Amino acid sequence: MDILRKIEEYATAQSERTAFRSRNGEISYGELWERSGRLASEIENLMCDSRDPVIVYGHKDPMMIVCFIACVRSGRAYCPIDINTPAQRIAQISEKIGKPLVIMAEKTSAASEIEKREMFTGSRWLIGYETIRELTKSGKITTALSPCSDENDFYIIFTSGTTGKPKGVRITVNDLNNYLDWAMSLAGGIEERAVFMNQAPYSFDLSVMDLYLSLATGGTVVSVDRLLQKDSYRLMDYLSGQGINYWVSTPSFADICLAEERFDAAFLPEVKAFLFCGEVLPCETAKRLIKRFPDSKVINTYGPTESTVCVTEIQITEEMTAGNEPLPVGKARPGTRIELNPETSEIIIIGDTVSPGYYKEPMLTSKTFFFMDPLSACESAGARQATYSGGSRAYRTGDKGHFDEDGNLYCDGRIDNQIKLHGYRIEIEDIEANLVTVYGVKRGAVAQRIRDGRVESLTAFVIRDGDLITDDYFGRKVIRTALREKMPSYMVPKRVIFLDELPVTNNGKLDRKRLREMA
Ligand code: AMP
Repeated sequence: MDILRKIEEYATAQSERTAFRSRNGEISYGELWERSGRLASEIENLMCDSRDPVIVYGHKDPMMIVCFIACVRSGRAYCPIDINTPAQRIAQISEKIGKPLVIMAEKTSAASEIEKREMFTGSRWLIGYETIRELTKSGKITTALSPCSDENDFYIIFTSGTTGKPKGVRITVNDLNNYLDWAMSLAGGIEERAVFMNQAPYSFDLSVMDLYLSLATGGTVVSVDRLLQKDSYRLMDYLSGQGINYWVSTPSFADICLAEERFDAAFLPEVKAFLFCGEVLPCETAKRLIKRFPDSKVINTYGPTESTVCVTEIQITEEMTAGNEPLPVGKARPGTRIELNPETSEIIIIGDTVSPGYYKEPMLTSKTFFFMDPLSACESAGARQATYSGGSRAYRTGDKGHFDEDGNLYCDGRIDNQIKLHGYRIEIEDIEANLVTVYGVKRGAVAQRIRDGRVESLTAFVIRDGDLITDDYFGRKVIRTALREKMPSYMVPKRVIFLDELPVTNNGKLDRKRLREMA
């Protein structure tokens, strides 16, 4: 697979066909290719010798996709930042890249345009939305382009990091192309020119599944913005008549839709498959989907951002849901091998979609990424792993797992404090590192409240620094407001509880189990 060439081919073969649609507008394959070419030329002229990644800031506007493809065609990786990201996080990402080029791919009012510009004060160049639209419409291709290839980074997605700062996962052109080679076989084979429902923001790697699977097969992405996602009645109205064939979302989002009575096969008759990734697929969710969409496939996939979206697949059948037991995540794709650490049961992913590591973070990278000799890996894994076909980067996921007698993998929780809340990946220590920087907080810890095996919400436990903040509703509000400026709103704990001291275990460590009981 060569994803850029595929898009170019479709831009010639079906230039009028819609590649991407959202409530902000739509763009055809022909336009996508032409406009991204003009912008790529502009980026090349601006950045000259610098091959630094480019920040693309936005949400679900068609320009977002134009900018992604433009960056890669100019020979630079893109780093998507969603509009949900607060200024401090953006500053941390900008700083890590080092005076980046920032492209605004979302329409904003004049006032918030100024605000956004202030958020990006650390950038070297900032191109506003209207300029991007103009440039991509009437700019000239003035320079030869040398697009990203092979081991160049294609995109960099920043995710929560334990130090309180986000870390950028590098995904190369090879990683993405190798992933797509296999992903096209998902659900028994992705059909050409299908319609994909996109739920995830582009700063979350689940979105790579719908966007690039669609572009690789000449399909159309129907992208659902966050305001629409908050209003399931209007969401249903929007989705009906879109002809969705492949539904790509977190299970949490499917649960929200299942709360709508009309969400069934009569309402969305063209759905061939539900493709899930990013968090546990609860048995109950799968069961309800199978009942309401008897002719659609329900597919569970598993994998972290660090190994390009997902590396396993299984179709969930009615029989699998009968016992209300945790569901399997399936078998590894060809090109990937999965091993379990014999002592900790940690899932290790080895293969040709594993990232080369975190952007400009050699220490962090060496903690979880390593190089595995493919031969010895094959020998130690035995016959079960016969599908391994090369590639030797390996990643320690932090997930615990086991295989059943059929060779299907199961996820059994984490060996660390990373959680998934409504599909979002969060390191508890990330929130804690920010919590203790809030004025008036002496010490703090965060714990998750779990219901039916799933994280339902977060609670912050705080020891106040004297009376700098009050021990009441206002004090709690001050803390939550301060946190909202430091991290995306989904990371801000719902509850704040003031304590005189944090619980500790017999050997003096923070007692997280006790905190979870109190959360
Ligand atoms: P992300 O990098 O945001 O995709 O998050 C990756 C993490 O999500 C994995 O390491 C798992 O902890 C969790 N995860 C992803 N897919 C599944 C799944 N199908 N079942 C259970 N956990 C999952």
